[in-house]
Amino acid sequence: TERTLVLIKPDGVARNLTGAILARIEAKGYSLVELKKVDATRELLEQHYEEHVGKPFYEPLVEFMLSGPVVAAIFEGHRVIEGFRSLAGTTDPTTAAPGTIRGDFGRDWGLKVQQNLVHGSDSTESADREIKIWFQG
Ligand code: ATP
Repeated sequence: TERTLVLIKPDGVARNLTGAILARIEAKGYSLVELKKVDATRELLEQHYEEHVGKPFYEPLVEFMLSGPVVAAIFEGHRVIEGFRSLAGTTDPTTAAPGTIRGDFGRDWGLKVQQNLVHGSDSTESADREIKIWFQG
């Protein structure tokens, strides 16, 4: 079965939304495989966000991801990668559809980075890569 890496970003953890977010993923029918709370490091984030290194939002993104603990999870299920991204909603929480995690719980805080509560892998290749980084690093 397919697996995906889900991160609850520091804004989600700080706002005590971890349980609510995990509950939505479980309620859709995906199974929790691994779960842990992590203080990310710059090195770990550089691997995770390697495609964004050098972009204007990279440094603010890393600072944000270092601002507090994150929760990392592996979820499993048929087409879970696409299914979780659908649950999460589009990147900008202001315009993410109601009913999605970002649409229901997120808003734009006016900072230089999208504080959009969650991350989900975008392909089987990135899921394999990200699961190694967060769980076998
Ligand atoms: P999605 O693909 O659904 O947008 P993602 O988390 O995979 O979610 P990426 O494009 O990989 O999005 O970007 C990673 C993160 O970097 C985003 O979730 C967001 O926090 C931040 N980000 C992306 N693009 C921008 C941008 N133009 N300005 C500010 N922050 C951004």
